[in-house]
Amino acid sequence: MLSRSTRLARVVQTSTRLYSTAYPTTHAKIENPVDTKAFINGQAVASKATTWFDLHDPATNNLVTRVPQSTDEEMRQAVEAAQKAFLTWKDTSIMHRQQVAFNFVRLIRDNWDRLAASITLEQGKTFADAKGDVLRGLQVAEQACSIPNTLMGESLEVAKNMRTEMYREPLGVVAAIAPFNFPAMVPLWSIPLALVTGNTLILKPSERDPGAALILAELITEAGAPPGTVNIIHGGAPTVNFICDAPEIKAISFVGGDAAGKHIHQRGGANGKRVQANLGAKNHCVLMPDADKNFALNSIVGAAFGAAGQRCMALSTLVTTQGTGSWMPELVERAKKLTINGGFEADADLGPVISPAAKARCEALIQSAIDEGATVLLDGRGQHPAKYPNGNFIGPTIITGVKPGMKCYDQEIFGPVLVVVDTTDLDDAIGLINRNKYGNGAAIFTRSGAAGNKFQKQIQAGQIGINVPIPVPLPMFSFTGNKGSFLGDLNFYGKAGVMFLTQYKTVTTQWRDEDVTSQKADVIMPTQS
Ligand code: NAD
Repeated sequence: MLSRSTRLARVVQTSTRLYSTAYPTTHAKIENPVDTKAFINGQAVASKATTWFDLHDPATNNLVTRVPQSTDEEMRQAVEAAQKAFLTWKDTSIMHRQQVAFNFVRLIRDNWDRLAASITLEQGKTFADAKGDVLRGLQVAEQACSIPNTLMGESLEVAKNMRTEMYREPLGVVAAIAPFNFPAMVPLWSIPLALVTGNTLILKPSERDPGAALILAELITEAGAPPGTVNIIHGGAPTVNFICDAPEIKAISFVGGDAAGKHIHQRGGANGKRVQANLGAKNHCVLMPDADKNFALNSIVGAAFGAAGQRCMALSTLVTTQGTGSWMPELVERAKKLTINGGFEADADLGPVISPAAKARCEALIQSAIDEGATVLLDGRGQHPAKYPNGNFIGPTIITGVKPGMKCYDQEIFGPVLVVVDTTDLDDAIGLINRNKYGNGAAIFTRSGAAGNKFQKQIQAGQIGINVPIPVPLPMFSFTGNKGSFLGDLNFYGKAGVMFLTQYKTVTTQWRDEDVTSQKADVIMPTQS
């Protein structure tokens, strides 16, 4: 087992091997920040942008890099490179593409610390949690290695000497638009599957933390993906609209908030593209009186405050019932044990939120809860580690007495804030959850099989956890949010993800074993089988 300092030193060493900026492994001020590049046709490309997004370390608010709003010309170059690459990439053998996936998996493992370090610096989550961010994406890449089996088609002799086969072909150029909160995992929901299915990809990472995506582009290139197969362009709404409108792009995978997702689903759909869009969430957890108390309380604290609550599957709403509201003082004690600190600090349990604006929004929602009559049992406002006075820190916050209609319940907070709603029984709890517009995930803690079964059957959320606080399926399954948390028909990764990235083709072949003697053509549909 390498020491932490050795591991981090290696990050710096390996980062010079490829094109992208060497990522520091502390929150020390970067004296000469390097502008983020695009990745077009296998090359890191300096932008001629006139508009730039300043990217700050959330722990310090020091400048890390500037991210370009890619110019129209750069975006066009990327699409043209992807379109050109598709013509040859689609004809590579499935075994060749599988080898690239195997290499990619190995390279992600080799660069795991480097990827995680870039996430901690740009996004703020702790280094250990950033490694988890990489792992959950790596697992999609590993699953993509099974593509020869997943893509196997169907074939049947449908008449004498006549056979139909049905198989899936790539769509062409596809695009992915990512959020800030999982800078490696979400790009990895798309990169490996787009490539092994024979597509080429335009990726737009979040303009708030694109570093991990750039490293991944370099790694997939080193793994053997030819120039043009993966391209990265940057920016905000202009880049998104370019992706929605570019006729070469056949499908868009979006992960992020409701406003952008609805816009992309509508605009991309109007242009005839397939769109899958994972949106916002408000994940509820029911705490039953027969639950294993220690396990449940520890799980709830971890799932509510890990990653500073900035996970789409974070447990943001606790539903107490039949007396479990009396457990809240104990929940508070456990939450108080968490350490907020810069993500590179060894003792950090949670880091800062992404921006001063996100912090201000969380704090305003906490205040709104007080104003609307709820009780703040644990108030994380105003807390910051001594070493990081300028970061976007908020301590774990627990608000009880919350009801639907209050802003802190109705809105996704996306910070380390747990709201607690009291209900009378399991039916009452299920009703509350089903009335919520979102359907990403829901969990229950109970020792009762009957309660778990009822919860599973009656809850209208797409990902259910029974004694599992964050029930995100591994990539042999799919990420199955529903209701207001998803737009589209086919979910991300797993079989559904492969379906989204491919289209069926059927071929019917006839090899007659006797010559035709009739001189007259048949014009009717067959009337007998
Ligand atoms: P966001 O919607 O602000 O940004 C997502 C992407 O959309 C970014 O690439 C951004 O550049 C782009 N974008 C933002 N505003 C836009 C606009 N007006 N027009 C066009 N494009 C725009 O989301 P975020 O803040 O980066 O991420 C947090 C959100 O993502 C939360 O709501 C969270 O629940 C959600 N999320 C959902 C899932 C899921 O699987 N359901 C996973 C991760 C994050």
